[in-house]
Amino acid sequence: MLKFLGMKFNTKAIHGGQSLDPAYNAVMPPIYQTSTYAQTTPGGHKGYEYSRSKNPTRNALENAFASLENGKYGLAFGSGMAAIDAILKLLKPGDEVVSTADLYGGSYRLFTQIYQHFGIKFHFIDMANASNVAKYINTNTKLVWVETPTNPMLNIIDIKQIASITKKHKVLLVVDNTFATPYLQQPLQLGADIIMHSATKYLGGHSDVVMGALIVNDDTLAEQLYFIQKASGAICGPQDSFLVLRGIKTLHVRMQRHCENGKAVAEFLANHPKIEQVYWPGFSSHPNHQIAKSQMRDFGGMLSFSTKGNNYNESIKIVEKLKLFTLAESLGGVESLSGHPASMTHASIPKAEREKIGIVDSLIRLSVGIEDIDDLIEDLTQAIG
Ligand SMILES: *Cc1c(COP(=O)(O)O)cnc(C)c1O
Repeated sequence: MLKFLGMKFNTKAIHGGQSLDPAYNAVMPPIYQTSTYAQTTPGGHKGYEYSRSKNPTRNALENAFASLENGKYGLAFGSGMAAIDAILKLLKPGDEVVSTADLYGGSYRLFTQIYQHFGIKFHFIDMANASNVAKYINTNTKLVWVETPTNPMLNIIDIKQIASITKKHKVLLVVDNTFATPYLQQPLQLGADIIMHSATKYLGGHSDVVMGALIVNDDTLAEQLYFIQKASGAICGPQDSFLVLRGIKTLHVRMQRHCENGKAVAEFLANHPKIEQVYWPGFSSHPNHQIAKSQMRDFGGMLSFSTKGNNYNESIKIVEKLKLFTLAESLGGVESLSGHPASMTHASIPKAEREKIGIVDSLIRLSVGIEDIDDLIEDLTQAIG
């Protein structure tokens, strides 16, 4: 296994945690499409007994996840939600969670409509000012949930400052790193305990797989999470593991272009007379631009914008007219997508709650892909009019 210290990110994306397949020296791990493994005598096996516990293709991917995030352990799940679900299973009735109020709609739904019923209490708060978090921590608090940049408002939360609070109170800090990817931001390095990804998005990168990932450093925490992965069984299959591993090999190249295109689109929209506001952490006017600069390598390909006068009909017309930006849920693939958070990704958050965090009815979210930037600008020009 390539293990020399100081392997740079671009090399890790291709070689991190990987070794030749022992059977025939295959360079890419074969898709071990098997549920079980022969034992010579009970317990006499080569490290694999049953694919819910461990599968060689999934294992190769989990090692890649760990390597990319500079962590010791990686875990792959059947979806981002399954990965989040595994984290919440670390908790018990009576435990409390402090979460950012501005978060993925599906995470909010899982917290409030499933885990709240099991006696876990959630506090949804504004974390733009990180010191806010300390006010909500009490003896029952077990976990702080951070998403940064946030979906869809692209707010930035100071991971290092929150980590100093969670460490002091011995509370776990989870960072949903889906938007940033390890190319842009490495939360374990900033003091987080668990990194979560919807690998469906940038890690897979080609809109052809649904998958989730967790990365941790702590041995005990890893053991607990592997136990939950095996005991609850929300794993991903070997074919999907292969696809995401293949996707990861170009993560750095894709992200570089996503960032370039994202910047060009953000600037184009900011100068457009029919656009009210553009939410993108790369603008020096963004309230937490300095924090973004210090904890991220670049600003990514995700952005949101509202139309002049918060005009719902105008926004709907734009998403209907866009041709290259396909109107669809999801993000992070090579192709550009548009979305209307209030009726799509964030419809499960009540309107009043939505508007409190800035998700107005005219808000459009873009996942800027890696097509030619001239074509993307031409598409936006014709759609906005
Ligand atoms: C998509 C997404 C999730 C959920 O992941 P799935 O793979 O769709 O289950 C969680 N967090 C963020 C930020 C996401 O974008």
